[in-house]
Amino acid sequence: MSKFLNPFYYERPAGVPAHAAKLKSWVRVALRLDKKTVISVNDLACNQPHCPPRVTVILVLQKDGPARKFEIHKALLDTNEQDVLLAISGQSTAASSGETRN
Ligand SMILES: [Zn+2]
Repeated sequence: MSKFLNPFYYERPAGVPAHAAKLKSWVRVALRLDKKTVISVNDLACNQPHCPPRVTVILVLQKDGPARKFEIHKALLDTNEQDVLLAISGQSTAASSGETRN
């Protein structure tokens, strides 16, 4: 029982594999990747003080090209399609809060 009281214990939520698959499909569509391109999605610990404790890291491993890495400073399950598209377009670190194009 003590593990439930331990604030450092991280139990991987059951929905993670399904959500990771969604993230991969968003990346694949947005970057127009073929099925041979490997996409890896992981959520890792983030040590930056201003961040949530988890960071979602997307790796795109293209056969003929450099690997590309996108980081979203949110837990994997909190990451939505908009976050993925912003990360891919390189805007996720820009100070563009509030402004959205409709
Ligand atoms: Zn972070």
